[in-house]
Amino acid sequence: MVSSPTITPNFCDDRRPPACSPQGARTITPVKRLRIGVVGAGTAGAAAAIFLARAGHAVALYERVAAPGPVGAGITLQPTGQAVLARLGLLDAIVARATQIDGLLCRRPDGRAVVDLHYADLDPALRGYGLHRGVLFEALFAAAGAESRIALHCGVAIASTTLADGGA
Ligand SMILES: Cc1cc2nc3c(=O)[nH]c(=O)nc-3n(C[C@H](O)[C@H](O)[C@H](O)COP(=O)(O)OP(=O)(O)OC[C@H]3O[C@@H](n4cnc5c(N)ncnc54)[C@H](O)[C@@H]3O)c2cc1C
Repeated sequence: MVSSPTITPNFCDDRRPPACSPQGARTITPVKRLRIGVVGAGTAGAAAAIFLARAGHAVALYERVAAPGPVGAGITLQPTGQAVLARLGLLDAIVARATQIDGLLCRRPDGRAVVDLHYADLDPALRGYGLHRGVLFEALFAAAGAESRIALHCGVAIASTTLADGGA
């Protein structure tokens, strides 16, 4: 049965910019622990929930599908997505189930190239990866489920949200 709970997240009211580490990586130091609701356990929701939980917040992750599974087709994992997964500690396991892409070439029916990208032309360290969307889902969903600060609620469709404690 699908229920529609009301989320009442509250937000940190300290608007100072995050501190930067000596290496330049942004780190977030919450001034207080928050209770945060995240709607949807897809790529974005699961990743956000993990980051928030690891930052110390209590996260309720709501997914309308009762038993989420690895559905979908092939996707390309670009360097920006790779960087996020690396920060989550998930990139190596995902890459092990992916195929490296060195370049992208898209042609029109008349043979003219409309995309001709070679990652190494931009940076020798850059590459893409081709994988089944389910590989990404499985890694993120499992990681979210393993976080003690994430309460996962499947089969719950969120109908509306409200903000609490002066959240904006
Ligand atoms: C055909 C196709 C090909 C693509 N190829 C690529 C590619 O090669 N590379 C790439 O990077 N991206 C690709 N994308 C885009 C990529 O799939 C999306 O950007 C990505 O899935 C978005 O992630 P998301 O978490 O925001 O949304 P989703 O993955 O759609 O997840 C949203 C989740 O929220 C749940 N949900 C929605 N509403 C509610 C609600 N009210 N209450 C509770 N739960 C809710 C849904 O059930 C779902 O599980 C492709 C997309 C399509 C359609």
